[in-house]
Formats: sequence, structure tokens, C-alpha cells
Amino acid sequence: MSGSGGNAGGGGNSGHGGRNAGPGGNRGGRGNGGPRDDSRRNAQGRERNRGPQRNFTDSAPAQRTRRADPARLVAFEVLRAVAAEDAYANLVLPARIRHHGLDKRDAGFATELSYGALRSRGTYDAILSRCVDRPLDQLDPAILDALRLGVHQLLAMRVPAHAALDQTVGLARAVIGAGPSALINAVLRKVTANTLDEWLDLLVSGETDETKISSLRHAHPEWIVRAMRQSLVAHGRPASEITDLLIADNAAPVVNLVALPGLGSLAEALDGGAAPGELVEGSALSSGGDLGRLASVRAGTTRVQDVGSQLVARALAAVDLGPKPGSTTSEQPAGGEEWLDLCAGPGGKAALLAALARQQGATLLANEPLPHRAKLVSQALAAVPGETWQVRTGDGRDVGTETPESFDRVLVDVPCSGLGALRRRPESRWRRTPKDLADLGPLQRELLASALAATRPGGVVAYVTCSPHPAETTAVVADAMRKREDLELLDAGSVLDDVSLTGNLEAGHESTAQLWPHIHGTDAMFLALIRKKA
Ligand code: SAM
Repeated sequence: MSGSGGNAGGGGNSGHGGRNAGPGGNRGGRGNGGPRDDSRRNAQGRERNRGPQRNFTDSAPAQRTRRADPARLVAFEVLRAVAAEDAYANLVLPARIRHHGLDKRDAGFATELSYGALRSRGTYDAILSRCVDRPLDQLDPAILDALRLGVHQLLAMRVPAHAALDQTVGLARAVIGAGPSALINAVLRKVTANTLDEWLDLLVSGETDETKISSLRHAHPEWIVRAMRQSLVAHGRPASEITDLLIADNAAPVVNLVALPGLGSLAEALDGGAAPGELVEGSALSSGGDLGRLASVRAGTTRVQDVGSQLVARALAAVDLGPKPGSTTSEQPAGGEEWLDLCAGPGGKAALLAALARQQGATLLANEPLPHRAKLVSQALAAVPGETWQVRTGDGRDVGTETPESFDRVLVDVPCSGLGALRRRPESRWRRTPKDLADLGPLQRELLASALAATRPGGVVAYVTCSPHPAETTAVVADAMRKREDLELLDAGSVLDDVSLTGNLEAGHESTAQLWPHIHGTDAMFLALIRKKA
């Protein structure tokens, strides 16, 4: 287990230290730097840097800070919005950062604190259960969130213990009230008795169930640990990779860029320190910072997009369909083709597909039922000349009957559990339930059926999910194949290899393909390529 108790470093009472990796630790790039001069945060005008590091203050909570440190307040507001309003942390956080006017460093601190506390919620709650004298669900949810923030600072960030304690109590005092601060103080003092590694050893001591142990050590719900192990095996990988997969889920993903083919350029990003992508052409790994500084990003011709998404979109565009029925020219393989993106919102893959369609003389219809997401699709497509694409706002299940056998290439990137993108959404693993898989199954099947109905004989459908779970991937495809004799599965692994720079992704298994965070550094994207026989 990496990430020992992180109380290193002296410094100010506010203690915005750097971070260690918690059980759900953010091991990728976002650092918060070392101790800082926090004099401007001192509500009482005390001098902050008090020389040698102390353990936490012995003063009573009432004598400690009564002001909420803005970065911690932002993190608290994010946790509250996630718990009370079902909000997405990645959407709430930037808004709260802007609202409180945090500078870059404080924004980094608030990000690490909120994401870390959300991601590791299950493990932190297990620790807190040992420090609170009643079941956690009997605590006021706001107090529990404050405690989670305290635990993350104490165990997984290099925040001095006294600062983590004082500031969490001060936050609670300012936003919840004076009463709970004594409880928070007492509980967090108990948490400081052990480092994170010591806590984890305690939690798993005597436990023999590997799933429970992985769940606690790597901060995933037990059902997801089981689901991921099952997914690895379903796609031909050893179950022993589960630990690497869970660890990869806990790392912040590198931001990948794509230059829309024929329209965008990575030159500015590469000049600014981005690294050329190694898996797919036209991609780069961002060096961080404000991407809005890049003119091509502002123009929409260079976009942020996971490499897995880039690969599956390119795979669909690259499938050799042979000459189109009635066509006499083989010069331009996709010339005059009509492409469909059936579930397009918010438009990441649609933008890349449209750029590829333009290069190949094809057109794209991008469909999305939710009006606000359809608008995002139009915005994503705006960088591609308008004669190439159209947006339809409607239910994808109707497209097959409305326009049967019309499209040459169809992407159906179905709504799914998102188990393949847990690293992007810190709260999602605790929000999802096994029922989601069951609930989504019928819609996924209906959308695939509609995609197949909309495809002309000889055309191809790319069935894509951002989940490796067999219930959403191989089972859906197998059901579709079982019902009809006019379908054939293409070797998706080979097509992915063809569009990759390495030529050897080793993603294929029994004709479908699965990408993995711990192997490819991508989201766990699934791809099946289904051809409708001519
Ligand atoms: N391809 C998109 C991209 O790369 O940005 C992501 C697609 S997302 C996984 C699934 C999308 O399907 C969501 O935007 C959702 O609103 C949409 N969706 C939900 N129900 C649908 C339906 N009945 N027909 C078509 N799309 C649907």
C-alpha cells in the first residue's frame, strides 16, 4: 500500500501541504506544493510559521480558528453537493473554485482534498467507524463529510496534523456550528493515532476474503471489485491483474489531446511541453495548465479526448467495407458514405468522426435525445465545416425504423455504468449499484438493434461502452448476434491495432476488444465491430 500517514512538513496553521497517495490516492500529476506562508489566512492575525513542527494543538476547539479556510470550504461544499444534491464533483468543483476566487495553488489543494475524500470514502468510513462511538449513519451527513475531509488531510496529504485538525474544526465551527466541533476534534484525534498503512493493516487484520481486502486497501466497493475481476476474465485477462486495475482507477488520468484530422494541430501544445501520444496518431499528452491558452483548443480543432475514445472512433472510420454497392470507384473508400453516431452527447467521438468523415468524403448524422446534450454535440462539431454533419435531437431507438438500411458506418456508444471511467469521477464508484447494470441492459440492446436496423447491408456498427462489464459488453453483443444470421463480428482487436501507432495493443479477445487503464492508460473502453452481411 502506498501512501503512508502524511504529516510531514512544518508550516502554517492552514497547512496546505503536498499530498501523499491515499487508498484512492491521486498519484498522477496534481501537486499542491510544500508548506506555504499562510499569513493571509490567519483570522486572528497570529504569526503562522511557528518554527519547528508541532503535533496538533492542545487548545480547546473553542480557542481555535473560527474561520473556514476557503480551499477547505470549497472541498466541503463539493462533498455536500455530491451527497445532498447528487451532483457531479467534476462539474461542481470548478464552479465553487470560481465562486470563492481561489488562486491556482488553493484550487489544486481543494481539488486534491475533495477528490481524495470522495474517492476513498469507503475506506475512510471504515476508519471513522473505529473512531466514532455510534454508527456513521447516525451522524449528521455534514459532520460526516467534514470528518472525511479531516481524514484525507491527516492520512493522505502532507498537511501537518495540527493544521488538519485545527482547520477542519474551524470549518465545522463556521459552516455547521459550534456543537459538532468538539466531536470532530475528538474523532480526528483518534484518527491521528495511526498512519494510513497502519489503519489499513488494522482494518484487514484477520480478514481472509480477498475481495474485502482489496475493497478496503484500494477504496472500491466490494461489488465493483468483483465486477472488475469478472470483467478481466471475460476479456481474456488474468484475474490477478485486479490490483493493478484498482490502482490505475485511483490515479488521476493524464489529459489527452486530439488534433481533429485535417483541421487541428498539436504544434502549439507540443511546443508548450505536451508529449506526443504513443498509442494513436494526432494525439498528445497535455503538460497541464490552462488549455484555453492554446489557440487550436479555443478554436475547437484540438480537443481533450481520452485515447481509448480516439482509438474506437478511428477504428470505425478505418474498417474496410469494400466497394459500396452500385459504386464504380475504389479511389475513395468512404466516398459518399453516410455515417451515424446514434448516442452522440456530449460529442467527443462525434467531433473526431466528423473530421474523419470530411477527409473521406462522407457525412455524419449525430443523434442525441437530451436537448442540452444535443447542443453540446453541435458545439463540439462547430469546428468541422457544416456541410459534413447534422445533429438530430431524438431517441436513438427510433432511428432504425425511421431510416432503415441507410448508413454505412454507425457508432452506438451506449449509455452505460461508466465502470471503465471510475478514475474520472471520484464519487461514481460509491453511487453506482449492481442494479444500474440490470437497468441499462434493455436500453443498450434496443439501441444496438436500432443501430443495426439503420445500417445498410455491407455496413458496419461499432458497439462501444465505457465499461468492461460483460453484462454491458459481450452479453449485449452475443444477444444481438444470436438473433440474426445476417451479422458477422469483425476482429475488433486487429482493427484497433491497425489504427494504433504500436500495432500491438493486445486488446482483442474472441473478436471483440477491450482497452484498460492499467494496460493502455486509457479508459476501459469496449469495442465490437458488427458487419451486416451484404
Ligand atoms: N459518444 C459520446 C461521446 O464520445 O462524447 C458519449 C455517449 S454517452 C456514453 C451516451 C449518450 O447516450 C448520452 O449522451 C445519453 O444522453 C445518450 N442516450 C441516452 N438515451 C438514449 C437514447 N434512447 N437514444 C440515443 N441516445 C441516448
